[in-house]
Amino acid sequence: MKLNNTLTRKYEEFKPLGDVVKIYTCGPTVYNFQHIGNYAAYVYWDLLVRTLRADGYKVKRVLNFTDVGHLVSDGDEGEDKLEKGAAREGRSVWEIAKFYGDDFLRNYDALELLRPDVIAHATDYVEADMRAVDEMTKNGFTYETEDGVYFDTAKFDKYAEFGRLDLSGLQAGARVGFSNEKRNASDFAVWKFIKPGEKHAMRWDYLGRPGYPGWHLECSTIIHEELGEPIDIHTGGIDHIPVHHTNEIAQTFAMSGRALAKYWLHCNFITIDGEKISKSLGNVYTLDDLAERGFSPMDYKMWVLQGHYSGTRNFTFESLDAARARRLAWRNRIAMCRQGIDDTSDGAYERTLAAVNDDLNSAEAFAVIDNSRLSLSDWKKIDELFGLRLVADTPDIAEEYYALLKERAEARAKKDFTKSDEIRDKLALAGISVKDTADGQVWGYLR
Ligand code: AMP
Ligand code: ZN
Repeated sequence: MKLNNTLTRKYEEFKPLGDVVKIYTCGPTVYNFQHIGNYAAYVYWDLLVRTLRADGYKVKRVLNFTDVGHLVSDGDEGEDKLEKGAAREGRSVWEIAKFYGDDFLRNYDALELLRPDVIAHATDYVEADMRAVDEMTKNGFTYETEDGVYFDTAKFDKYAEFGRLDLSGLQAGARVGFSNEKRNASDFAVWKFIKPGEKHAMRWDYLGRPGYPGWHLECSTIIHEELGEPIDIHTGGIDHIPVHHTNEIAQTFAMSGRALAKYWLHCNFITIDGEKISKSLGNVYTLDDLAERGFSPMDYKMWVLQGHYSGTRNFTFESLDAARARRLAWRNRIAMCRQGIDDTSDGAYERTLAAVNDDLNSAEAFAVIDNSRLSLSDWKKIDELFGLRLVADTPDIAEEYYALLKERAEARAKKDFTKSDEIRDKLALAGISVKDTADGQVWGYLR
């Protein structure tokens, strides 16, 4: 497999560090519904895992749920997102985390994404967070303010490297007089203190006062606890490069002196009708919104996989419709195989696998599928690789429909076209199409 590694900005041959490929994905902040843009990322990282497995690797994958500490801004200001969700809905932060975490998993399963080996809730790692802060402090990387414990980014000489950051520009552009007494504009909280009178339901005693972990810390801690750094592959959104992942790398170095990951993959953003996904534009679509318009999670997944993770993607309902039609065309090829027609192979599966091994190029893989002959057993392997339910959603038709087809063939033989059309309409109501070919009737699916 070859991957575009954000760390080196190079297209590299994947070489695992050990016997098991260790993968970590930055997961959702469970305070609201995830929109279709969010789920695109998980579709691409699922393809990463499936491709590695198809290549014969053992994979251990960890995904976190951020249920505390993620503030509204990427800096260290503003409300905690969970507190915000709780205030909005008049529920407790714990209820909010449970509700939106469950909703995320419901959609995750509907997209046929393989469950990670570990789903790590940030709140289960707070003791480990405290040990991490102790370690970073012992190694001289932190300082304390009224506001919390901050990471001194000037102490990590490679801080700017990962994000190719211009720190002097960042410093010059920063607002003067930080209320939280940060030493450098890029410094960030690894632990936040809760001030007297401040509302924050999730709180832990540490350093003699109530507080909670900074958002970036959980990923370093969870990786340390569940996988052990360095890991093989770390994935996330492109927006994570300059702050979140930069900070994860800094923390891990400060704790253990080790690198965090060998390969870093970042997926780009999805726009809708050429616009950013945003509340004010009313285009924050969920998978349920798509279902209301008659599109299944598999249609959306098909749309996602038609493009590459690193490119910007523009979503329109027309393009979703086209993706659905392409998937139906594939299913109807499977229907043909089920009828013993075109059930032959020309090595397309191997070429498909080779395409996704080229930096997860599913778009190229799909072109291979369009232009090759696949047998039913190929289609089963294709399904294992992409999780598109192509075979499962194209079962053989029931006996009663075969009976109708037989009746229709007899009617046609007697040139009773009224009856033959009636039967066609009956089959159509059941979602079954029928084509008359030189070899007789061929059934398929209409939806
Ligand atoms: P959140 O769950 O709110 O922490 O957001 C999760 C992540 O979803 C963000 O950090 C981004 O990496 C990703 N994301 C947000 N908007 C989009 C989008 N329009 N397209 C693709 N990914 C997105
Ligand atoms: Zn993270």
